[in-house]
Amino acid sequence: MSQMLEKILTARQEAQRACSIFLLDLDRFKQVNDTLGHPAGDALLTQVSQRLERVVGRAGRVGRLGGDEFKVIIPGRTANAELAELAKRIIEALSQPYLIEGHRVMIGASIGIAMAPENGVTSEALIRNADLALYAAKDGGRGRHHFYAPDLHSDAEERRQLEQDLRDALTNGGLELHYQPVVSTTTEKISGFEALLRWNHPTRGQLSPTKFIPIAEDAGLIVQIGEWALRTACHDMAKWPDGVRVAVNVSPLQFANPTLPAVVTNVIAAAQIDPARLELEITESVFLNDSDGTDAMFSALKRIGVRLALDDFGTGYSSLGYLKKAPFDKIKIDQSFVRGATIHGSRNGAIISSIVSLAEALDMETTAEGVETLDELDLVRMLGCSHVQGYVYAKPLTRDEAEALLARGLGVSADGPRSARFPRQTMLRRVILQHGSQRYDATIRNISRSGALVSGLWNVPSGTVFTLELGEGQVLTVTSRWCKEDRMGIEFAKPLDVDENGRVIIMPEPVKRPLLDRSKLLKTG
Ligand code: C2E
Ligand code: CA
Ligand code: CA
Repeated sequence: MSQMLEKILTARQEAQRACSIFLLDLDRFKQVNDTLGHPAGDALLTQVSQRLERVVGRAGRVGRLGGDEFKVIIPGRTANAELAELAKRIIEALSQPYLIEGHRVMIGASIGIAMAPENGVTSEALIRNADLALYAAKDGGRGRHHFYAPDLHSDAEERRQLEQDLRDALTNGGLELHYQPVVSTTTEKISGFEALLRWNHPTRGQLSPTKFIPIAEDAGLIVQIGEWALRTACHDMAKWPDGVRVAVNVSPLQFANPTLPAVVTNVIAAAQIDPARLELEITESVFLNDSDGTDAMFSALKRIGVRLALDDFGTGYSSLGYLKKAPFDKIKIDQSFVRGATIHGSRNGAIISSIVSLAEALDMETTAEGVETLDELDLVRMLGCSHVQGYVYAKPLTRDEAEALLARGLGVSADGPRSARFPRQTMLRRVILQHGSQRYDATIRNISRSGALVSGLWNVPSGTVFTLELGEGQVLTVTSRWCKEDRMGIEFAKPLDVDENGRVIIMPEPVKRPLLDRSKLLKTG
């Protein structure tokens, strides 16, 4: 592979020195190796190379760099779109399930792309830049490809710096746990807290775990950080009432580490708490590879007596089969199902209600996550969720705040907006409002998916129903909700569609008769 690349880059004719390289890294390969053993890992690599060669075919040459990294060289000039297409096909092919020693195994792949001569004329520069692009692909959520761009150098520098700072934070006490109450829907009492990591960075302020957990996972720091979180949570909980539990998030990498049960036993003993007060939150991704290791880990944890919760349920890409054997005590319904569940026409309510039935049949509790509004609270209660967690009760609290809350007793009350207010967009559009046979000129001043502010009509009684022609062919039934002088708030009978940025989709203005501009007419005669 090196010789081939060298040969291309030093070709006598400049036009022949063009090529593209893909650096490819398998996602979750390490997990397979750790749980199924090295011979299984080798068998998987063989199958990966076969699939790779099949997809790349005659377009280029495939080689292995070592570990779970592969390289593809594509000679000549290839359009970006074509490279992107090839990368997508490779990722798709490698993400299909594998059968290894009778086990169904799923992995993914990320690809970094660099092109000669644009991104480098030596093999070192080209590979370094493809590697940066690969890093960006992994950072962007894995299972993606990324083209090299010059600003990736500063991103990589930032990441390296953050990784170093994270090591310092771990040894110097820069990490903190915050605690968010979990409330029983029937009693409105706190049943426990979820421990959520916070990092107070010396120069960047408070950093979100979604930003630094992936770095910790890549840098191999997550096992240590996870142990710190378990130990701290148990230590804090020891001072709290016996009925109060604490849930701690466990990364799939911790779960794949055979020392986890010993660590859990140890922190529980050190804090002298009842193991049933500790709940471990695990995501579906631990089931991507069905292995004896996963089953053994579950049994070991259950033997210790801790509770297990299935986190972010419904967002992963696993089958339901694992629920048959995995001994969960609770399913956490992801906030993406709660968000928007109260919007007319949403299917989220139906999904939540099915998850609740499933959990009840399997004798598991359910926590609805991310409940922000009173309407959402009413809904998840009505749908039968046994617990609620979200801003409607409390945001994650510092330990002191959590203790102050507990000192006032376990009862809490919900507080928040009645319903989510949709983002408003300002606009000025002349429209006609029709009530019975009366037509009125009006102007829309701002609009959201559920309603609009209109000017031009005076003293309209609230509850008046109009039809409104908003755009070409877009006719809505609307109801006035309030009116002050010539301003009126209207609500749409059906919410408008929104695009991926949450902006309402509005058809162009209806074609109007062209206005005669008298001054122009005069001038041009
Ligand atoms: P998660 O486990 O799904 O945690 C719930 C997240 O939702 C938290 O974000 C929480 O602050 C947020 N949240 C709670 N209620 C509401 C609400 O009403 N509305 C909205 N919009 N958000 C709400 P946070 O604290 O930023 O944590 C993000 C993720 O980081 C967590 O998602 C979890 O996956 C991970 N994480 C946090 N702490 C740890 C840890 O100690 N270990 C590991 N491995 N991962 C952790
Ligand atoms: Ca969680
Ligand atoms: Ca969650």
